[in-house]
Amino acid sequence: MNVTTLPKPPRVGLVSLGCPKALVDSERIMTKLRADGYDMSPDYAGADVVLVNTCGFLDSAKEESLEAIGEAIAENGRVVVTGCMGKEADVIRERFPGVLAVTGPQQYEEVVAAVHEAAPPIPNAFIDLVPEAGLKLTPRHYSYLKISEGCNHRCAFCIIPHLRGDLVSRRPDAILREAEKLVAAGTKELLVISQDTSAYGVDIRHQSRPWKGAEVRAHMTDLSRELGELGAWVRLHYVYPYPHVNDVIPLMSEGLVLPYLDIPFQHASPKVLRAMRRPANDAKVLERIRNWRAQVPDLAIRSSFVVGFPGETEEDVAYLLSWLEEAQLDRVGGFKFEPVEGAPATSMDDQVPDDVKQERYEAVMALSARISAEKLAAKVGSTIDVLIDAVDDETGGATGRSKADAPEIDGEVHLRDSGGLKPGDIVTVKVEDSDEHDLYGVPA
Ligand code: SF4
Repeated sequence: MNVTTLPKPPRVGLVSLGCPKALVDSERIMTKLRADGYDMSPDYAGADVVLVNTCGFLDSAKEESLEAIGEAIAENGRVVVTGCMGKEADVIRERFPGVLAVTGPQQYEEVVAAVHEAAPPIPNAFIDLVPEAGLKLTPRHYSYLKISEGCNHRCAFCIIPHLRGDLVSRRPDAILREAEKLVAAGTKELLVISQDTSAYGVDIRHQSRPWKGAEVRAHMTDLSRELGELGAWVRLHYVYPYPHVNDVIPLMSEGLVLPYLDIPFQHASPKVLRAMRRPANDAKVLERIRNWRAQVPDLAIRSSFVVGFPGETEEDVAYLLSWLEEAQLDRVGGFKFEPVEGAPATSMDDQVPDDVKQERYEAVMALSARISAEKLAAKVGSTIDVLIDAVDDETGGATGRSKADAPEIDGEVHLRDSGGLKPGDIVTVKVEDSDEHDLYGVPA
């Protein structure tokens, strides 16, 4: 009989100071660490790392926290500090340069990441309920990667900042670690999402973190480059056209990031954009799109547009339609403005009647469908890379997506002969036919 000896899990010691809220924070952190396979150590000597959850409410509490850190350093040496005093990281580091990491209150992900770094967990297929890459609702071969939560803008039709608060960016090393695990578990495509990807890191002043022996900045360009190095397709969603978006275009030329940008323009008329209070409302956007395409000719741009915003006139719609004609976007999603409770636009004057919204919506969708059909027809005869999403055993065909197609929202590539392919395979396809949204072909 073969008996497998399970490796000993790393052990974490905990010193929890402060109020009941800090205690709840400690419980949450330890719950997560237990779920990750760590054991608790009742003493300093048996711990691989000691976590000190500090209190910084009064000077006396701060002094007590510093003493606790000093004791943990003296007794064990491998110490991660978290909690309210984490806001004074400089004071802690000055007195105890040897601390491994300092994180602030409620930064659960950061604390757990610091412990993982100090004493890496041992993945174990026998006892782990959750696979190393986490539980996923998407197929194994593509994964959404959330880089931040919340938003600093206040668009007049949106209640997301009200519901989710201002922008809170994740640490770049935590994102990269998650992405690395996903790729190791079979992900072939990472879909970077947030409310405003271009703003990533603004709230944490683009702070750098150690990653694979170097430093990586919490910035869209740096993060995209590092994600690209992992070897999967990297697709950027919800990118606002701030000037620094120009810097990710070379990453597309280098093949590190897919030649794809999902930019929610929402409208083109400067007057409507102002009324919508949209960010990055730059009159030179068409010129920038031209520049991007000059650098990356196969760049696919997807966007969404809202028609029927309060005060939108026929002239605004005419402006939008001629803008769309010129921009030649590859994919367009159209929406009719819907008043949402709590959004400023809901109580604005000059609401547009439903039948007028419908007409405008149909005009935008008809034009976009024509442009899409023309752009797809131009691909007939070419060869493209396709990531297989599904194989139909009955017909022997398969469905996948090109680099220009995000799952669920863009088009598909239909193969009439799958030739033994399976989901997650990337195959070169000769395009034989096209329609308004999809391509048809065979493995080349
Ligand atoms: S629509 Fe505007 S306010 Fe809402 S999440 Fe997007 S950028 Fe932020």
